[in-house]
Amino acid sequence: MYPPDGPRMYASKAEAECAGLMEEFQGDALREARARRPPPLYCSVCGKTDDEVRKMVAGFIANICGECVLRCVNIIDEVV
Ligand SMILES: [Zn+2]
Repeated sequence: MYPPDGPRMYASKAEAECAGLMEEFQGDALREARARRPPPLYCSVCGKTDDEVRKMVAGFIANICGECVLRCVNIIDEVV
C-alpha cells in the first residue's frame, strides 16, 4: 500500500470491512503468539536479553551471554 503509513483507500465497503477483520484477526494471532512465547532470558552481567545476543548460557540462578563470557575471558587473560 502506498504511501505505507498514509490513509488506506478501499474499493468497496466490503473490502474495507474485510481488511478490518483481517487486522483484528492478525492482532489476535499476534497477541496469542506473544503470550505463548517463553519469557526472555536476561544476562545477569549486562542485562541484555537472549534476543539481543547470539548465545546465552543459562544457569540455575544466573545467566551469562557470549559477549560477557568473552569479556570475562579477556579480563582473566590480563590478570593471569
Ligand atoms: Zn551479557
